[in-house]
Amino acid sequence: MATGNCNNHPPAVFFPSDGVGVEVAKKICETCPVAGPCLEYALSQRIDHGVWGGTSERQRRRILRARRAEVPSTVG
Ligand code: SF4
Repeated sequence: MATGNCNNHPPAVFFPSDGVGVEVAKKICETCPVAGPCLEYALSQRIDHGVWGGTSERQRRRILRARRAEVPSTVG
């Protein structure tokens, strides 16, 4: 995060309360040099609040669901 674009913005920008705010934050993340690691961090830590790595809370839930679906089940 120290080298991320969010360094130049107040933290509250990345914890928006509406859809417009989410889009503003995602726009900032778009050109961030550490967007990939930022997203993976948020996914691995199961951070559900805020915009991380250019994704909304809903998008990260979708990514996690899709990844879980890709992992073959060992139960059975
Ligand atoms: S991807 Fe977004 S939230 Fe993550 S470090 Fe970059 S600007 Fe900050």
